[in-house]
Amino acid sequence: MMDTNAALADWLDKGGRQIGQITIAKSADGWELRHIDDVGREDLCLYTITADARQLANLDDAGAYRALKTAPNLRHGWRLVLPDVATVHSALDAFYPAMIGVQLARERGELTPVNLRDTLARQTGMYRVTQKLTDEQAQSLIADSCRCDGGCLKIILWRISEELPVNSLPAEKFTVRGQNEWPLLCHEACNILVAGARKVVKGEPKEG
Ligand code: SF4
Repeated sequence: MMDTNAALADWLDKGGRQIGQITIAKSADGWELRHIDDVGREDLCLYTITADARQLANLDDAGAYRALKTAPNLRHGWRLVLPDVATVHSALDAFYPAMIGVQLARERGELTPVNLRDTLARQTGMYRVTQKLTDEQAQSLIADSCRCDGGCLKIILWRISEELPVNSLPAEKFTVRGQNEWPLLCHEACNILVAGARKVVKGEPKEG
C-alpha cells in the first residue's frame, strides 16, 4: 500500500492542484500554496514553514476564529512556500484536518459513511435530545449549515437515514469533482451540525 506522502506526490505528479480554497503550484523552491482567489497577486505575505499553516488556518479575513476549517472563509493575502511533498502534506493537514487520509481511505474502500440518524442515536447527555430532530428539521438544518456558499465545502457522503437522502441541497454537494481537485469528504455529521440539531430541537436561535 502506498504511504500517504507517496499518494499525495502521485496526485501532484498527475496534475492535482486544488484542495478546498487552496491552490498548489510547483515553484523554484518546491511547492507554493495560496488562496485560490489570490492567483496572480504579487503583494502576498510570504510564509515558509508548515507551522505557519495552522496560524493561517485559524482566523478569517476579519480576524475571527474559524471553528470549522472546511468553511469557505479561508483568509487571503498569503503564500506558503514549502520544500517538499512531506511538508505540503503537513500544511494541508493543518488547513484541512484529516482530509488527505479520509480520501485515501475512501480510495481503498475503507471509508464507511455514517447516516445522520445513527450519529444522533449515539449522542448522550445534553445532545441526546437531538434524536427528536424531525426529518423536515434535519433537511432544513443541513441546507443551512452544510451549504457550500457560506456553510461548508465538504462533499456529503451520508444520508439522513437508509430510507431518506438529503434532498435540501443541490447535486454538486454530493459529487466528487475532477481529479485535479482533492476532495474534502464528510462521511459523518460533525459536532457543529449536531450542536445545531440541539438548538433546533430546543427552539433556540442559531447564534448564541
Ligand atoms: S456535517 Fe459535514 S458538510 Fe455539514 S458542516 Fe459539518 S463537516 Fe460540513
